[in-house]
Amino acid sequence: MRKARISRSAQPVTQRVSLDAVGGHESDDEPSGDREDKPPEGAGIAPALSPEPLSKFCHSLPGLSPTFPENERSQQFRAQHYPSVTSAEWSDWRWQLRHRIRRVSALQKMFHLTPDEQLAFRRGEPKLPVALTPYYASLMDPDNASDALRRTHIPVGDERIVGPGELVDPLGEEETTVVPGLVHRYPDRVLLMATRQCATYCRYCTRSRMVGTQLHEKFQGFRQQWRHAVDHIASDDRIRDVVISGGDPLTLGDEELGVLLQRLADIPHVEILRIGTKVPMVLPMRITPALANLLSRFKSLWINIHCTHPDELTPEASVALGRLADAGLPLGAQTVLLAGINDDAHTLKRLYHGLLRHRVRPYYLYQCDPIPGSGHFRTPVAKGLEVMSQLRGFTSGLAVPTYVIDAPDNGGKIPILPGMPLQRQDDDILLTNYQGRTCRYPDGSAGESLPA
Ligand code: SF4
Repeated sequence: MRKARISRSAQPVTQRVSLDAVGGHESDDEPSGDREDKPPEGAGIAPALSPEPLSKFCHSLPGLSPTFPENERSQQFRAQHYPSVTSAEWSDWRWQLRHRIRRVSALQKMFHLTPDEQLAFRRGEPKLPVALTPYYASLMDPDNASDALRRTHIPVGDERIVGPGELVDPLGEEETTVVPGLVHRYPDRVLLMATRQCATYCRYCTRSRMVGTQLHEKFQGFRQQWRHAVDHIASDDRIRDVVISGGDPLTLGDEELGVLLQRLADIPHVEILRIGTKVPMVLPMRITPALANLLSRFKSLWINIHCTHPDELTPEASVALGRLADAGLPLGAQTVLLAGINDDAHTLKRLYHGLLRHRVRPYYLYQCDPIPGSGHFRTPVAKGLEVMSQLRGFTSGLAVPTYVIDAPDNGGKIPILPGMPLQRQDDDILLTNYQGRTCRYPDGSAGESLPA
């Protein structure tokens, strides 16, 4: 197996920026569900992850243009809501992160919020932070609360309804967390949560319990936490595959990301690195030529992109995906099946065909995880099977992902195939995981309101 390695030719240093270093511009006097971490005073890079010159990672790949397009809808949105902002500023990922929309007062200026959407911002609510990049907000319909992308990111009152079987940590990740930020559930692979921050917050997020939260006080920053995770991986030679997720690792600055990837790639038994990210869909301008160059240096690095709906496949996303593909990175897509958003074969076919045109292979279609307040997003498993049966054979196999339930209680991913007999007990579906263990997935969606 070829090992990931970085070559060492030097080029100019680019500015180091991470999400920790930027923030929203709205006032703090109203609820936003804001719980994002602020960089602690004096936080530094821990010794085992000491900084290396970014010049080490920066090279020019031929044919990558630094310019970015701007779709017509975003142009109109910018003219209406950010009249003094230039196209160049809009296309700067740092500007987008600094100006994320996080407060109900800002949302109200841009969207006709329904009473239900407004209610979701009662003081102290919602628990999961709200954040939209102006770019992603520009793709949403300001007048239609049923708009697919809007439903995935603007909270509604149904988030307060907790159904049977819904859990704060539905996958049981806390139980298999071996050091903070490192989940070791399967024998040969681990999940490293490189950050808790995302560019935007999806309302159905499996890790809604932790994204946007602060680190444990004993850690001075993520780089210190990484040191423990890297030490654990280095100490266990069964681990050949590291999934780097979060939060969203592509919200880290180039230098931080490069240091982390290099430390992992330097471990002799680590053969594969995988990054899970939604950034190409919600912040495509983050995929700069410098970032693509950096990632291209790791020869066994895969990128899995979280995509929801064909409306995300804009000219901007097209450039971002093209940069990653041109840099030689294998690209896969992961999609969560969401009621009324993408739970029909026509929508998914449009999404998957669009992804394939951009050299992204649909990988997993996930049954939505039962986090608290997810009933309005979750489809019955029968619906997922129906959609899959309308894809298989009706389009090329490349456009058909594997439909999986990430089984609660540490069951792992269990593929579900059309025609497969499903065993039920009350509202639960009984599934057998790779170890032969029986796991339950709550297939009902009726719930009761959270106490006020
Ligand atoms: S980008 Fe991923 S980690 Fe972040 S909120 Fe969305 S689903 Fe959760």
